Amino acid sequence: MMDVSAELSRTLGKATLVEPGRLPAYATDKADFRGSTPAAAVRPRNAGDVAKALEFCNRRKLRVVARGAGSSLTGAAVPGGKWVVIDTSSLDRILEIHVQDRYAVVEPGATIGALNKRLARYGYFYPPDPASAAFATIGGSIGTNAGGLKAGLYGTTKDWVLGLEVVLPNGTVINTGSRTLKRSIGYDLTALLAGSEGTLGIITKAILKIWPLPEAHRMFAAYFGGMKGAVDTVAELEKLGIALSAAEFIDKSGLALVRKHNGIRIPPGSNYILIVETVSNKEAADRVLDQAIMIAKSNGALSTKPARSEGERADLFDARRHMLISSKEKAERTHRRVVIADIVVPLSQLHLSLREMHHAVARSSLDVILYGHAGEGNVHADIAYLPGDAKETKAMNALQTRFGEIAIKHCGSVSGEHGIGLEKKDLLKKEFAARSTSESIELMKRIKKQFDPNGILNPGKIFD
Ligand SMILES: Cc1cc2nc3c(=O)[nH]c(=O)nc-3n(C[C@H](O)[C@H](O)[C@H](O)COP(=O)(O)OP(=O)(O)OC[C@H]3O[C@@H](n4cnc5c(N)ncnc54)[C@H](O)[C@@H]3O)c2cc1C
Repeated sequence: MMDVSAELSRTLGKATLVEPGRLPAYATDKADFRGSTPAAAVRPRNAGDVAKALEFCNRRKLRVVARGAGSSLTGAAVPGGKWVVIDTSSLDRILEIHVQDRYAVVEPGATIGALNKRLARYGYFYPPDPASAAFATIGGSIGTNAGGLKAGLYGTTKDWVLGLEVVLPNGTVINTGSRTLKRSIGYDLTALLAGSEGTLGIITKAILKIWPLPEAHRMFAAYFGGMKGAVDTVAELEKLGIALSAAEFIDKSGLALVRKHNGIRIPPGSNYILIVETVSNKEAADRVLDQAIMIAKSNGALSTKPARSEGERADLFDARRHMLISSKEKAERTHRRVVIADIVVPLSQLHLSLREMHHAVARSSLDVILYGHAGEGNVHADIAYLPGDAKETKAMNALQTRFGEIAIKHCGSVSGEHGIGLEKKDLLKKEFAARSTSESIELMKRIKKQFDPNGILNPGKIFD
């Protein structure tokens, strides 16, 4: 039987191979998806190592998964048995920053947080901002086309990737896109790779668009009895041209956790908190904040609270950023696991969808927290269930399906930003069938075959 580690070590050099004792850690991810311990894992030093490793695996038809921080939430980064992991978190250099031309060139293992720390020195930033930005890598976030807290204003990852260096399964290195802010050069392979979940090629370099940091930001929290007022607030602010770099909401059960962790005081009757951040120039900042608060009040906010200091702003932001971690901690106290639904609907449908989601939760026996990015109508549902308990597992699956159906009914999608991975393959089929476009999945499969004829790259993710 072939010793994959030994052969890879001969091909690439021992230094790139992960020690056997550390391989089990790759079997799972931050959402506790269970795959298998891989046969080997490589930490490449450059694109050449990735090319050699892929060429080796392709010849032997060994399955491969690219891995960044392993923080995706659908099982996308988890290997099967006898697979090889290519852990690109080892390629973490920020190679070039060109502020006048508004782009940076980075390796895939750099975290979004590290990139933003560097860019801040120049007064710039990279806007895609998943709540996991401190540890999520550029490669992984392109793999899932991550969204995050600022997507309502700035869009998602795909809008910020200008070009990629990608290694194909046969070891060929291709370059997509360009260093320019626009281009029209045939099929957009860069956009195709964003959200491809490591199924088409392994990214070894990315040219990313960057943006000047806004001069000033202000934040406030508004508490609502119903979500309609929050939706109308967001819509009215946007109509007035007020730039919202965040419009996050958390439901009542999430609020209970927030209160515990962040000492936030919640007025009686509140079922939702809406956390809004405005950006503007310095002169306009306070006026814009006052106007935004007035609009929230006129749309029925029970109470509003501006963040008066950086500390108060951080508290509010952290409450939302740590929502998933807080709900996981709560679930773990009763040995439960959390799975996360990630539906997205047009803004006008958000409160209607939430109402139906709450009905579904009330009919189930499970503990569920609903929260998300109001600006884009993106709802996350942290569903806690006992993995060994057949009744709870069935209820969890029924809720996931129901939430997907609600999204489809309201002209939305079954995933706003986490992707499909292993978890949402059936929901993807449902969505395409509902739109009478099942042929789209067949087209995706044919595209996959062109990139990866032997089907070695992350098979079984997105579709079977
Ligand atoms: C607490 C928490 C909060 C989160 N909040 C958000 C949020 O607000 N918004 C959001 O969108 N997501 C969120 N996520 C999900 C996740 O963090 C993001 O999807 C993130 O972008 C994944 O980055 P990663 O480095 O962990 O990628 P991984 O999980 O390692 O990989 C993700 C996918 O990309 C592929 N991949 C990895 N590296 C490469 C590469 N070099 N080339 C090609 N493919 C590659 C993998 O094979 C996999 O399919 C959150 C996750 C956590 C744990």
